[in-house]
Order: sequence, then structure tokens, then C-alpha cells
Amino acid sequence: MALTIVVKIGTSSLTQPETGTLALSTLALLVETLTQLRRQEHRVVLVSSGAVGVGRARLGLRDRPRTIALKQAVAAVGQGRLIRVYDDLFTSLDQPIAQVLLTRGDLIQRSGYVNAYNTFQQLLRLGVIPVVNENDTVAVEELKFGDNDTLSALVASLVEADWLFLLTDVDKLYSADPRNNPHAQPIDLITHMKQLRDLQVEMGNSQSGWGTGGMITKIEAARIATSSGVRTVITDGKSPANLARILQGEALGTQFEPSPRPVNARKHWIAHVLPPVGKLYLDPGAIKAICRKGKSLLAAGITQIEGPFRFQDAVQLCNADGGEVARGLVNYSSLELEQIKGCHSENIPQVLGYVGADTVIHRDNLVISEEQ
Ligand code: GLU
Repeated sequence: MALTIVVKIGTSSLTQPETGTLALSTLALLVETLTQLRRQEHRVVLVSSGAVGVGRARLGLRDRPRTIALKQAVAAVGQGRLIRVYDDLFTSLDQPIAQVLLTRGDLIQRSGYVNAYNTFQQLLRLGVIPVVNENDTVAVEELKFGDNDTLSALVASLVEADWLFLLTDVDKLYSADPRNNPHAQPIDLITHMKQLRDLQVEMGNSQSGWGTGGMITKIEAARIATSSGVRTVITDGKSPANLARILQGEALGTQFEPSPRPVNARKHWIAHVLPPVGKLYLDPGAIKAICRKGKSLLAAGITQIEGPFRFQDAVQLCNADGGEVARGLVNYSSLELEQIKGCHSENIPQVLGYVGADTVIHRDNLVISEEQ
């Protein structure tokens, strides 16, 4: 069966840690593996970091660029080099590739999201491997994906992938950082994100290594991808050939099973692409109605509002402790909601002086968190 497979590789796997120069043998193995997957008729997308790392090496900069402008300039140097190397390697195996540079801003407009979807579909139909990165050179802070783990999960969802592979510098996920905790337990399979709750406590306490070593963003990526039905694997970036073995059923790395009830593309866009700009705190009755009974959110269940936000902005819905239970697109601005929170729907026209929507968030625009 032809599968759609997204593979993400990070700078630490692509470059030599000491010098920052390219890890050519890893790259060559990756290129060989992905080309083989293409020859088996699978549709393949590569999400590759490395623009900043390669740019630094190219320019002989010893330190990480600190200012935004320097980082963006270095990325512009590195991205060109990186694609050149990929194109040379893939071309030697007759495999066409394409460069796709994205920012969150490109996907926020629903039309932009659909446009990106169509472009990926066309590339995959042409048998091309898109090589994706964040468009670091122009991305502005508030519209960044921030890290390529998140980007790869969003791309996996966008292309309706069957698999997302997150290649990294450890062989799998452990209950703590195996480099400095001898009691760290390997984790082979996560069937539900709820299983990770205990683990997150461990990571949350760690200020070094595991906590900041990239595992949190990988788990977040797994959460995003599995919620839209993508099986996700964290595995060793130095052995890209493992991908084929995993696809044949070997239990390498850590696998996250896809949600049995994946959200549709539009809800995925609401939950993961749109940056939430406000918060609504709900009473327990409203939480039960939206999470357990599939109802829309009404003004009566809202106790507190954090804004400002406008009509149709994305907001987080929280319990009294601030824990997120859902996200959605609001039918009212924060100014209007301040007036009508706690009101029964039939009283809203009287309070506002005009007839608004019956619901504050319609259930079609409401996405319940996986943990609920
Ligand atoms: N987009 C960045 C780069 O190519 C990397 C971001 C990341 O590794 O998460 O250098």
C-alpha cells in the first residue's frame, strides 16, 4: 500500500557537533532511504532543519547568531547551501526535490492553508520529494512555528500523512534524560497521550538536558500529529535506514499511536495552526456540555475572559485552574463577551442592543483537547 510519510531531521543529526560541518554520511543514507521509499511508490516529504547551522559554518561564525537580523541573514546563506547539497545527492539517484519554505502566517488564512495543501498534493503527484523548512529569513517572531518538530507535525497533518518520523540524537524517548539519569526507562509505545502525564512531571522538573533537549517539542509534535491521525515515531537520526525497518513492523524507537478519533482538517487548523489570542474560563457545567455532550459553547457558562480578541479569533477554553480543555473560534469580541458572560442566550439581544449569534462558539468551530 502506498503511504504518505513525513520525515523530520534536526540540525544535530545533519551536522558534526564539533565543527558544524555537514554529516555527509548521514545525509547520504537519508537520501538513499527516502529515494528507496519513493521507488516503492510511497509519497515522501522531508522536513529539514540546518539553515542556521549550515549558514554559520559557511560564514565561519563561531557563536550562535544572537540578533534576529543576523540569524535571519545566516539562515538565508545556509538554506541555499542545504538545498544545493540535497539536490546534488537526490539528483545522483534521479530523484527530483522541491524547496518549500513556510511560516505560520502563510497558513493562518484558511485560503493559504488550502493553497499549501494543493501545492503539496501536486508535488507529491509529480513524484517529487518536497524539502520543507521554516522560512527563517522572513518569519517574524509572533508568526513562527518556532521549531521544526511543530512544523513537521503541521505538515504531516496538512498532507494527511500516515507516518511522521522525528529523527533525533537519541534512539527513543526515555522517562528521563538517559545521558545523566541511570534510572531512565525506555518507552517503546504510547497508545494515548494521557500516558505521558507522569513523564511530563519528570521533564518539567528538569531545567537542563531532557527538559530543554528537544524532547518536549517532539512530544508536542506527536500530540499534534496523532490528534489528526498520523502515527508518529521518535527514532535515531544517525540510522535513517531504520525507517524502512520500522515501516516493516520492527519496534524501533518510540511509537505514538494515532488517535482513534482524529479531528478533521478544519478543526486541526483551528487547534494547531491559529495562534490563540485570548482565554475564556468556563464553569463545570459548560465544560461537561462541550467535552462530554458535544454541545456548542453558550455565554451562560463563561465566568471570566482574557482578551482582547475579535470576532472569529481563536481562543483557549479553560477550567477554573487555567487548564486548557478546548479551543475554538469566537462569534463575539472580548468587549461583547464581557457584557454577556453568564447571560442566558435569550437575554443577549437585550444586553447588547442587537441580535448576535446564538452560540459563543459553535461546536463545528470547537476542538476538545485530547486529554479530556
Ligand atoms: N529552521 C531552523 C533551521 O533550519 C531550525 C529550527 C529547528 O531545528 O527546530 O536552522
